[in-house]
Amino acid sequence: HSKDCVKVAVRVRPFNKRERDAGSQCIVSMVTSSITIQDPRESQSRRSFCFDYAYWSHSGFTRDRGGLYVPEEPGGRYSDQDSVFQDLGEGILENALQGYNATLLAYGQTGSGKSYSMVGYGPNKGLVPKLCDRLFQAIRENQDTRQCQVFFSMLEIYNEQVVDLLSRGSRTPGGLRVREEQQRGFYVEGLRTVPCDSAPQVEQLMEQGTRTRTTAVTHMNANSSRSHMLIILQLKQIFSKESITKQSNINLVDLAGSERQRSSGSEADRLKEGTAINLSLTTLGNVISSLADVAVGKKVVHIPYRDSVLTKLLQSALGGNSRTVMIATLSPADICYEESLSTLRYAERAKRIQNRAVVNESPTE
Ligand code: ADP
Ligand code: MG
Repeated sequence: HSKDCVKVAVRVRPFNKRERDAGSQCIVSMVTSSITIQDPRESQSRRSFCFDYAYWSHSGFTRDRGGLYVPEEPGGRYSDQDSVFQDLGEGILENALQGYNATLLAYGQTGSGKSYSMVGYGPNKGLVPKLCDRLFQAIRENQDTRQCQVFFSMLEIYNEQVVDLLSRGSRTPGGLRVREEQQRGFYVEGLRTVPCDSAPQVEQLMEQGTRTRTTAVTHMNANSSRSHMLIILQLKQIFSKESITKQSNINLVDLAGSERQRSSGSEADRLKEGTAINLSLTTLGNVISSLADVAVGKKVVHIPYRDSVLTKLLQSALGGNSRTVMIATLSPADICYEESLSTLRYAERAKRIQNRAVVNESPTE
């Protein structure tokens, strides 16, 4: 049954400048897939957790001439972007090609490495661009057995409003609507879906989306660490000989920072943010807790998917028809102890969720 549980990985990044300048101590250690965190104020107090994968990206690296982070020596313990992709990305790709839905979520406090792991910076490409590279490669390799179509969408959830990051027009006031259909489940009405046939094309769209995100955030006088970014890749495979069509959705989610949100801005903004911005992340936590209870046989009457935009859109990924992976990212520093411990607890609960993924296949019309 383990293959139907949500798979959880943790990753710890190098010190940043602020932490180095503060003379921070590293309070995280890893042995194979288990991780131990030390309370900096109590030498006797440490907690250990076991996950599906634990990635040490804190030390033992060097940067090559192009700026790529690589292990200091071959076979060293530093986990680079490639090794994370080998474990997490390849499986998602494999699932999608078989016709399963797949979801990858990055969770962690702001600055802990969510976007680095998901999208990456410069030469250090993250999971999403690597996944696209391999997807289009696989499509080329399988050309003689099936005909494939890929559609790309990118959106942001801020203040419970959905913003289309690929739409060139002006923003819809109040955001796009989330609707529900029997067959399809929840979806965003009027979201732009762009047909794609190459990885560079997808990367260009991602850049466009990232630029829109930055300007939208500035426009709203907002803080991008408080928004969720969601990329949806739809893969349609038509097997002409068998007259079968397989369809799979891949959700790639860079979540808002998990830190307890401090407000800035006007009183009105504060009130709005206090309720709405946290709502999607808080509800995600509640859904995960409920599903973790279900998994250990507790009676759960109601799973609050409908309470937020994010959990509506991720309903099938959480306890439903999807293979789901979460990567929880951590700062190594003593000053982040509380946040890191809370991230580990959250990840531990997510690990218990059980999904029932099925192949989405139908006769070709
Ligand atoms: P988040 O998206 O969680 O706010 P980022 O992904 O932007 O955080 O990471 C913050 C900084 O840390 C970035 O400058 C990034 O390059 C660096 N960083 C994060 N993870 C790693 C890693 N595994 N190896 C090297 N640098 C990293
Ligand atoms: Mg980020």
